[in-house]
Amino acid sequence: MPKNFDLQRILRSNIKTLEPYKAARDEYKGTEGTFLDANENALGSATHDLHNRYPDPLQWQLKRALEPVKGVKAENMFIGNGSDEAIDLLFRSFCRPGIDNVITTPPTYGMYDVSAHINDVQLQKISLTPEFQLITSDILAAVNENTRIIILCSPNNPTANALYHDDILQIIESFDGIVALDEAYIDFAIEKSFLPKLHQYPNLVIMQTFSKAWGMANLRLGMAFASEEIIHVLNKVKPPYNISGLGQNLALEALQNVAVKDQYVAAILEQRGWLENELKKLACVVKIYPSDANFMLVKTTDGRKIYDFLIDQKVIVRDRSSVTLCEGCLRITVGTPEENKILVEKMKLYKHL
Ligand SMILES: *Cc1c(COP(=O)(O)O)cnc(C)c1O
Repeated sequence: MPKNFDLQRILRSNIKTLEPYKAARDEYKGTEGTFLDANENALGSATHDLHNRYPDPLQWQLKRALEPVKGVKAENMFIGNGSDEAIDLLFRSFCRPGIDNVITTPPTYGMYDVSAHINDVQLQKISLTPEFQLITSDILAAVNENTRIIILCSPNNPTANALYHDDILQIIESFDGIVALDEAYIDFAIEKSFLPKLHQYPNLVIMQTFSKAWGMANLRLGMAFASEEIIHVLNKVKPPYNISGLGQNLALEALQNVAVKDQYVAAILEQRGWLENELKKLACVVKIYPSDANFMLVKTTDGRKIYDFLIDQKVIVRDRSSVTLCEGCLRITVGTPEENKILVEKMKLYKHL
């Protein structure tokens, strides 16, 4: 347990006193009746399917369906317009612009920086080790009275590895602010999710997403799991109808097909092994970092040139070669078997000039 964690202490005062927007359907809970309360078009939609009614603002049916899959109660869930929405809401709820700061551990996901800048929240960047693990002593030493959130990403993007479980635990237990743990890639990892530990730590927020293993990036569906107290804050601050009814229904459908998601994960892991084997034979590949995700960080002899060469060949990877600790590196997503073969064939054509 963090020793002196007090959510009310770090909650911004304007959020504490915020009266959230009351949607029409917050006031009448029944499903039967003549609904003339929300200024919808009662006659129908300008589409083939009916979309004329506002969706459930708190997505209860979806959250109930998530309970057995995640082993977490619906009351401890937040559904966002992508998991990026949860990060942004944490900044807006807990960080006073121009005063408070958050800690991130680069090289990591670029959206944390963007969200911090948008919210005028100062960033303290504590670099990972060359093996891309946390330096917990440096992170904890950087905490000051205005540090509100420590963001950790495991498995991490773009480095692909999971952070050590005990390091994450040490941060959660030692920090009296919020630890936001981004588990976007957890389905691909050997390391276990922190979800079973959620109830032990009132300062822990775990983020997951439907965008990766579930294959639903187009729908923009992210999840955050936390104490009821934190979830209550996120629900107060979020836009009332942040998840479309279509998105909620398709997520419900996906949850009926957990086995399909698991088959995708297995196939992606197999292809990741194949890709690793093929890529390490290439002269332009210096090193392939261990991956717990659906992508690999590959150190090459000349990152940007190989990236440009691949673009000419209509193969698009992510150039991370100018990122500190990732010099020469490309981030390569595991594709279909055919796509992976194309990548390897094209990279074989690359000649160092
Ligand atoms: C892809 C990704 C996400 C998912 O973002 P969505 O907004 O849910 O699509 C979150 N965190 C990291 C580190 C990612 O790479």
